[in-house]
Amino acid sequence: MSEQLRPAPRLAIVVPCYNEEEVFPYCLLELKKLLGGMVEDGLIRPDSFLLFVNDGSRDTTWEQITEAVLGNTCVQGLKLSRNEGHQSALIAGLTAVDGSVEAVVSIDADLQDDINAVRHMVEAYRAGYDVVYGVRENRQTDTWFKRTSAEWFYRVMTSMGIRQVSNHADFRLLSRRALDALLRYSESNAYIRGLVPMVGFASTEVRYARAVRLAGESKYPLRKMVALAMDGITSMTIVPLRLIAAMGFCICVLALIIAFYVVVMKLTGNAVLGWPSIVLSIFFMGGVQMLSLGIIGEYIGKIYLETKKRPRFHVESLIQNDMSEK
Ligand code: UDP
Ligand code: MG
Repeated sequence: MSEQLRPAPRLAIVVPCYNEEEVFPYCLLELKKLLGGMVEDGLIRPDSFLLFVNDGSRDTTWEQITEAVLGNTCVQGLKLSRNEGHQSALIAGLTAVDGSVEAVVSIDADLQDDINAVRHMVEAYRAGYDVVYGVRENRQTDTWFKRTSAEWFYRVMTSMGIRQVSNHADFRLLSRRALDALLRYSESNAYIRGLVPMVGFASTEVRYARAVRLAGESKYPLRKMVALAMDGITSMTIVPLRLIAAMGFCICVLALIIAFYVVVMKLTGNAVLGWPSIVLSIFFMGGVQMLSLGIIGEYIGKIYLETKKRPRFHVESLIQNDMSEK
């Protein structure tokens, strides 16, 4: 990009954690090593840090974070008052990093994403990019179901005109100005993956192979995956509403054609249309209407929730090495 490299940034790595007691020790160790290595190489400033967001964990995650903060100047901890979900926890972390931070990287606690990609992200940042997406090279470590459903999800999203980087989850680097721009989207149903491309600025991708979860189970059961997919679609586009209208129009045209056919049959004298066709069409129309109402309901629900302007999270405490609470 630009000829001149940007100076080494003060970097914050934001890690949302929900019941991650099993992976936390390893995660802390690896990220500290990574941070130290990058400082040594002059890639980032020495006051760069890790920020662990405890998203209302019910296990010992917060105790472990507190201990880590006590023992390390490069670790900070943010405690939310309850479990708000991955997207809100991430927003909370991004909001909490202080103003002197020049670049943030978000990454999952289970380290399924290759942490070495962070180096490449920082290099891309220094070369002038404001948004650097971590993109999975392959999804072999995911189950068949997760792979297929994700593929279909991206296809449906793209066909509805939502710009989104395929095979990119929430592993990315944002420069200060991209971060500020992202935080201006104040919707309570934030689908970060869809919002980041809307922010604009120069962006690029860093590819990496995704590993299996280190320990513990996925905190994204099917229920949460479906909810994220629904949020992703309904918070980013109104195309489904238009599809309903289009579908209604097509069915009306079809009905007219059938009516014409019935009249012709009647006139030519060989028409006795049985009740199955009637019953079938009633069921079919009933189904279409219920589905359409459901989709409309989803949007109305969203409007209802957004108009309340409820806060997305509450911070219980932000701790740093001197244990000063903010
Ligand atoms: N997570 C969170 N709150 C939740 C669910 C998940 O902060 O309610 C965090 C979790 O600790 C992890 C990240 O979000 O750091 C991604 O979750 P996970 O790895 O379980 O998702 P998957 O990789 O299976 O999609
Ligand atoms: Mg994971």
